[in-house]
Amino acid sequence: MSDIRLYMFQSGTQRCKVHNIRMGEGNGVDYEIPVPWFLLTHPKGHVVIDGGLAAEGLADPRGYWGDAVDNYKPVMVESQGCVAQLAGIGIAPEDIRLVVLSHLHSDHTGAIGRFPNATHIVQRREYEYAFTPDWFAASAYVRRDFDRPELKWQFLEGAATDGYDLYGDGTLHMLFTPGHSVGHQSFLVNLPKSGAILLAADAAYTLDHWNEKALPGFLASAVDTVRSVQKLRAVAEQVGAMIVTGHDPEAWPRFRQAPGYYD
Ligand SMILES: [Zn+2]
Repeated sequence: MSDIRLYMFQSGTQRCKVHNIRMGEGNGVDYEIPVPWFLLTHPKGHVVIDGGLAAEGLADPRGYWGDAVDNYKPVMVESQGCVAQLAGIGIAPEDIRLVVLSHLHSDHTGAIGRFPNATHIVQRREYEYAFTPDWFAASAYVRRDFDRPELKWQFLEGAATDGYDLYGDGTLHMLFTPGHSVGHQSFLVNLPKSGAILLAADAAYTLDHWNEKALPGFLASAVDTVRSVQKLRAVAEQVGAMIVTGHDPEAWPRFRQAPGYYD
């Protein structure tokens, strides 16, 4: 397969509360959010973007993810893990050359270490923070997912590498969008037919964040979160991008899901 294609996958959902997603809203009402991740195929090597929850955690969710399961309960089966779903479209673990991480919260780290030929790309400050998180963020990081120094890592350096062009041909730009986490990044994908698709990841959980109608219920910095959305909105407007928000139960089902794809 040498065509440039973007596949949209989902590793189940997480059960949470409205206030986890929209700060101060919902009066404790239940909510359920999708856990998206992506595959971009490219002649220079395929990239997995994020990778959902680690399928290994399903055998003992509390043992694996700790107290995080109290607020974000995984609803997923093993066949929804990233390796299993890629096998379903004929992609073997050896076929993946790159794994890029928006950030290292545990609903995004399920692909790390699963692909033997992959270089893993993350913002350096996210990687470092994940080992020493502040108390309120600690349950979002599951060290066994990313504490694997034997892997090949490539670190990006915040503003200094903002806009990093992964393949050098404009197919995938990494945009530094801190706020949700200290080293969060989003992705601008450029496809031959479909054009620009902006994967906001958790820089905007939902279109309410994108449209400045709500703050997310979890963040590292409110100011940075809001400014990163403004930055992404400016980029998206400039290139006419389709916007894919990070955990949006209303918007997500409208996208073409794998095995369908955008090309
Ligand atoms: Zn997150």
